[in-house]
Amino acid sequence: MSSEVLKLTAQIVISHASMSELTPKELVEEIKDVYHLLTSLTSGGLAVPEARPAPTGVKEKEVEVSKKPAVPLDEIVRDDYVVCLVCGKKMRTLKAHLRKAHKLAPADYFRRYDLDPKKFPLVCKEYSEQRRKLAKEKGLGEKGFGRKKVAEVS
Ligand SMILES: [Zn+2]
Repeated sequence: MSSEVLKLTAQIVISHASMSELTPKELVEEIKDVYHLLTSLTSGGLAVPEARPAPTGVKEKEVEVSKKPAVPLDEIVRDDYVVCLVCGKKMRTLKAHLRKAHKLAPADYFRRYDLDPKKFPLVCKEYSEQRRKLAKEKGLGEKGFGRKKVAEVS
């Protein structure tokens, strides 16, 4: 850093000396003053951007790869299965699998892969549809909607 300061000092003194007549003694004093000032500025509170090693990007990439699911997100929730993003298994419901095989709570799973729980349910469409029908047959979730109950239809 000090060589950088020296360079700056020289530049400043040269430009100053070119504008005004300086005796050799004044020149020396000026060099000292400027150098001292620059040094105190750079070592003081003033932030001088230091050249940082260029990011290699390797670390970032590694993290991305380890977190990036192998399966395209638009393919993980299908009619008859959902894909586990951790191991790639296909199941009708992932909840129990996540807990047993990966020790993950659904919330952790969503956070880990940055998933929207509404967009990516842990059960396949067929399964949730079945559950919905089942609930209907039991007369649940129908109250107050003015629809015909299954029991009345059959
Ligand atoms: Zn899994």
